[in-house]
Amino acid sequence: MSISQLARSICESPTLKLNETAALLREKGEPVIHLGGGEPKSRAPIDAIVNCTGVLNTGEVRYAPADGIPALKKAIIRYTEENYNKLAGVKNVIASNGAKQAIMVALYAILEPKDEVIYPAPYWVSYPEMVKLAGGLPVPITPEDGTFHPRVEEIAAAVGPYTKAIIINSPNNPSGAMYSEDFIAEIVRLCEKKNLYLIMDDTYNRLIFDGRSPTNCCKYASADLNNSKLIVVNCVSKMYAMTGFRVGWAVGNEEVIGAMINIQSQQTSGPSVPAQWAAVGALNGVQSSIQSLRMTLENNRNVMLERLRAFDGVKVTKPDGTFYTFPDFSAYMKDSQKLSNFLLEKVRVVTVPGKDFGMEGRLRVSFCGTIKEITEGIERIKWALDPNSPNELYLGDRKLVRDWQ
Ligand code: PMP
Repeated sequence: MSISQLARSICESPTLKLNETAALLREKGEPVIHLGGGEPKSRAPIDAIVNCTGVLNTGEVRYAPADGIPALKKAIIRYTEENYNKLAGVKNVIASNGAKQAIMVALYAILEPKDEVIYPAPYWVSYPEMVKLAGGLPVPITPEDGTFHPRVEEIAAAVGPYTKAIIINSPNNPSGAMYSEDFIAEIVRLCEKKNLYLIMDDTYNRLIFDGRSPTNCCKYASADLNNSKLIVVNCVSKMYAMTGFRVGWAVGNEEVIGAMINIQSQQTSGPSVPAQWAAVGALNGVQSSIQSLRMTLENNRNVMLERLRAFDGVKVTKPDGTFYTFPDFSAYMKDSQKLSNFLLEKVRVVTVPGKDFGMEGRLRVSFCGTIKEITEGIERIKWALDPNSPNELYLGDRKLVRDWQ
């Protein structure tokens, strides 16, 4: 069979694959705890559901403009004004199938073959593959000091003649780290000085804890939207627990957004219309669900931290936002893929190997599930790894016996 070189160079999404594995095991009756998930478990806001079912009930769901229905673009413009204090016009906005497609079409729109795209590690698993799909070269930058916080100088040192863009994701998947206000300000200035695109992936910026406020990257841009290479990406997926609706967007200069629209119009013709109406409902409706999700996640984070901190040899950094922790398990096993497989096989706990996010020895452990899943999941991991654990563990009525060191 002939499969293209490009297709062969692209890895499957490890997180989507793990969802599949967990679902298959559950179907077989296995007592799986999924700590690898990337989505909140709350319900979508009622305004989203009402809007979506309203359009479905008409029975007339037709093609729509490739860049989004006018009502959604209007809602995004209002969101941008309210949250970024930036006035966007309709030509500055594209609605896409999730933040994923918004980033993907942005990369297609700006990259020449072999152009480089820089992003800090750890990074969202999809960045390297998306950059490769668009013909570019991924350039991850690992902070030298071993923290999750890159220094601007480290990023600046990687900028070369082929660098076209920088992607910043704060708070960050998988570390939960929120980059400092100074870092964001400096990275915006660096991109302006070096004439680079800056893709600001703000997917999680409403899900932050400890009373902190989201960082507004637009505040540091010296030019208006149309004279700036800043592209701000967001979505309804995480903040409204609407991952399956597949609606995200990008806001940027008219030229780049126009190019992204052309590409999207040939690619998918944009997000499905009922999903777009759901997003309109979420964005324009009662906003209390974000606050209650944020509070639930903050509480979950505290429980997760407490459990992980009681775990000898595991090093964990407190996440500022998102619903992920990225603890260092290297004292137990350095190969994160092996460790993740071991935990799934022995105690049926799903985690994501750190290697997929550009950092070995770590696992991404999510706290978007229930408190019971978090406490039981960590207990099982501890039992599997800690040599001082009792010899037996019960999963429901199933008895596990430790037959490994
Ligand atoms: N950016 C980051 C950092 C993410 O974690 C995700 C989803 N896991 C996305 C973008 C994509 O979001 P969406 O589901 O809206 O495509």
